[in-house]
Amino acid sequence: MSGEDYAIRLEGVTKLFGDLRAVDDLSLGIRRGEFFSLLGPSGCGKTTCLRMIAGFEEPSEGSIYLEGTDVARLPPYRRNVNTVFQNYALFPHLNVEKNVAFGLKRKKLPKAEIDKRVHDALQMVELEDRGKNKPTQLSGGMQQRVALARALVNLPAVLLLDEPLGALDLKLRRQMQLELKHIHESVGITFIYVTHDQEEALTMSDRIAVMRQGRVEQVGEPEELYEAPATRFVAGFIGVSNFIEGRVESSNGMGTLSYGENQRVIFGRPQDHPVGDIVSLSVRPEKIRLLELHEEPPEENCVLKGIVRDVVYLGMTTQYKIDVPALHSQFTVLEQNVQVASDKTLWVPGEETILTWHPYHNRVLPEQATAESTEEVA
Ligand code: ATP
Repeated sequence: MSGEDYAIRLEGVTKLFGDLRAVDDLSLGIRRGEFFSLLGPSGCGKTTCLRMIAGFEEPSEGSIYLEGTDVARLPPYRRNVNTVFQNYALFPHLNVEKNVAFGLKRKKLPKAEIDKRVHDALQMVELEDRGKNKPTQLSGGMQQRVALARALVNLPAVLLLDEPLGALDLKLRRQMQLELKHIHESVGITFIYVTHDQEEALTMSDRIAVMRQGRVEQVGEPEELYEAPATRFVAGFIGVSNFIEGRVESSNGMGTLSYGENQRVIFGRPQDHPVGDIVSLSVRPEKIRLLELHEEPPEENCVLKGIVRDVVYLGMTTQYKIDVPALHSQFTVLEQNVQVASDKTLWVPGEETILTWHPYHNRVLPEQATAESTEEVA
């Protein structure tokens, strides 16, 4: 992809606050019209990144290209971007229409055009009948939609959204996520969205950059990040993962880790993992099936013995915590409650079980990540 196809391109961007590297040599290309999220734990540098794109912070090093032009040293008002913040930042003394019209009036556009654009923007966020209300007369979700209309009305090349749904309750938040996605599809503007909520990022984004300690760990589409996490951190931060670490014992056709009688974890191509290598794998909870001790797992499958420790019935699914003595660890397993009401009841704590899954579901994680603890990403 050429530089021209990117709405925003960051090249070697670093931001220092004293000794702290809030953003560390970050390079990223965000495509035109994309819904792109910066996702990561608190303090990983997401907001700092967004503020540098907006122009509220100047990078210590590196370049930021907006539609091909380096804007890293331009003030915010010279950049064709708008920001929506978590706390709405509406003017309390102005009604909804005047809040939305504010930027256009400062640009001294003709009144007829301002009226039309304000009307269109309020229609887009479904608040056309609330134009005369003051912000305090609106719910939190409505106020956030006004903030969105106020930004969109300026037709920015890029809309920056900094945890804009953070102050809303869960139900409204879910509803607003879908609305935001629809609005994005209808306006075709590039959205850059900052969140620490992985479910929110997965719901809305075309692509996501997972950040950690000022750096990007992986960029990808939601499905790619979930199904093929590149690092242990991503595997643990996006959804839940079970981790397996061991020394390759045989690599006859596939790499194999053995744990005594009838217990094995099979994975990957043998040429990549010779006998003696230490490998680190991850497998998702919903890929694992639980069998009774007398049941025979498929021959090609991974098989481990476990003891059920914890059972959480969640309606559609049940989540189990299962001790796996062979690995000295605990697995999380998620089962659909398809047959629970008919021929099968839930597993109960203390029961012995067999965990089994197809080797295809194992992800081999890069070596450098194996030293990190699971707790670090919880
Ligand atoms: P959160 O999700 O909690 O908002 P974040 O990923 O957006 O976190 P940033 O706000 O970008 O993280 O902060 C990254 C690091 O930079 C943090 O350690 C923070 O304390 C530090 N930091 C941010 N702004 C400043 C500042 N103006 N002065 C000094 N340190 C700062």
